[in-house]
Amino acid sequence: MADFDIGVIGGGPAGSTMASYLQKAGLSCVLFEGELFPRPHVGESLIPATTPVLHDIGALDKVDSFGFPRKYGAAWTSAAPSDIPTLGYQLAHGFRAADVLFNERDQPGVRQDYTYHVDRGAFDLLLLQHAESLGAKVVSGVRVGHVDFDEPEPEIVYRMGRRDARTRVRMVVDASGRHTLLGRQLRVKVPDTVFNQYAIHTWFEGLDRSALTADDKKADYIFIHFLPITDTWVWQIPITETVTSVGVVTQKKHFTAAKQQWEPFFWECMSSRPELAEALRKSRRVRPFKPEGDYSYAMKQICGDRWLMVGDAARFVDPIFSSGVSVAMNSARIASHDIIAAAEQGGFGKSAFDTYETKLRRATNNWYEFISIYYRLNILFTAFVADPRYRGDVLKMLQGDVWDGGEPVALTKMREITRQVEQDPDHLWHSHLGTLRAPSQAAAF
Ligand SMILES: Cc1cc2nc3c(=O)[nH]c(=O)nc-3n(C[C@H](O)[C@H](O)[C@H](O)COP(=O)(O)OP(=O)(O)OC[C@H]3O[C@@H](n4cnc5c(N)ncnc54)[C@H](O)[C@@H]3O)c2cc1C
Repeated sequence: MADFDIGVIGGGPAGSTMASYLQKAGLSCVLFEGELFPRPHVGESLIPATTPVLHDIGALDKVDSFGFPRKYGAAWTSAAPSDIPTLGYQLAHGFRAADVLFNERDQPGVRQDYTYHVDRGAFDLLLLQHAESLGAKVVSGVRVGHVDFDEPEPEIVYRMGRRDARTRVRMVVDASGRHTLLGRQLRVKVPDTVFNQYAIHTWFEGLDRSALTADDKKADYIFIHFLPITDTWVWQIPITETVTSVGVVTQKKHFTAAKQQWEPFFWECMSSRPELAEALRKSRRVRPFKPEGDYSYAMKQICGDRWLMVGDAARFVDPIFSSGVSVAMNSARIASHDIIAAAEQGGFGKSAFDTYETKLRRATNNWYEFISIYYRLNILFTAFVADPRYRGDVLKMLQGDVWDGGEPVALTKMREITRQVEQDPDHLWHSHLGTLRAPSQAAAF
């Protein structure tokens, strides 16, 4: 006899959201979280597709009243001065910027024109406590070692003091993030050999966020600053009125070749955009530098008999469009529907999760394709944002509205243009082609 209906491994946004949906539907959940919250975590800028999920689980008011900075839009600044008018508007020193406002496009289920930038320590704790308030049994500071599938009902195995303890459940949800507990245990994880990116990030106090925008009102958008180094960019995310998260994302091989420690490498990258480096130098770093590497992978299988994976435990590609938390929460939303239906029908066989698997693979493939094109021909993305024919469709993706319907038209068009540019060495944009060529639609992806 199972101790709980569902065992959730991991208390990040995916795990807490899953436990909240299931508890609301009357299923009993136990959630194991290896850390004691609040704990720091990368992934601080949300997109609007998180809003309907927060609303569904009853946490939106709590998040809204917490005081996280509101995020009304997103902006990109060019790696170098440019006078191409299709590439957005002019900034100081000849640089250009493009931006979008989320309220330019109505999004199903979203009734506010902003989302949030979040300190993940606080945000993840809020969501975990919310799941607990709905009745989930949260076991914090306990790391799951493995899941024993030998018995008809799986057993979650973890260390209690000097001995192994077991909790029997009717099915297991792996929400262990990039630790990918089941992906490793079941050997279904496939590293992405193309997106081998690497990030170094920290927080700064007192950064003048308006120094890098033409309009003070946009200073609290997320800013993505491109650097004149292949496939390299910087995020600027408001955490509080005065604290800003800044991270540099680059190809891992650039970092390895530089043979430097994190801090000098971070500053060397920044020095390629002197105005950015200068603004940062005037502020004060308030957290240690932290690296994130080897974070792009897929899974050959994301569901099986009595188990499935959600959030980063199922897949992660690249942080460029701030999609991670949204994918984590929406994958939990969609998977929870299949789990609830399966519980009503009395079985948790693999086929019960077909809808989830199809939707997750379709949405993440769209993300993957969008991200691949972005890295391959970055200039095209900015041109599409500025083009009224495609702006709405690009915005749809940037809002995270990718879960229903087929491939966005803008994506199909972008792929066509990229192919033309690749095949035509005389094309005005040929010299702008990046080096990453992703094998999109490959089996595991
Ligand atoms: C460089 C970088 C920048 C990013 N920027 C953004 C961004 O701006 N916006 C955005 O939305 N996303 C961003 N992301 C992605 C985002 O961090 C993740 O997609 C998101 O945190 C996924 O949530 P999750 O719940 O699946 O996993 P996590 O948030 O990682 O939560 C997993 C939890 O499981 C716990 N756990 C792991 N193993 C075990 C175990 N064995 N037993 C018990 N508990 C366990 C962990 O302690 C953790 O708390 C970024 C990612 C990277 C790498």
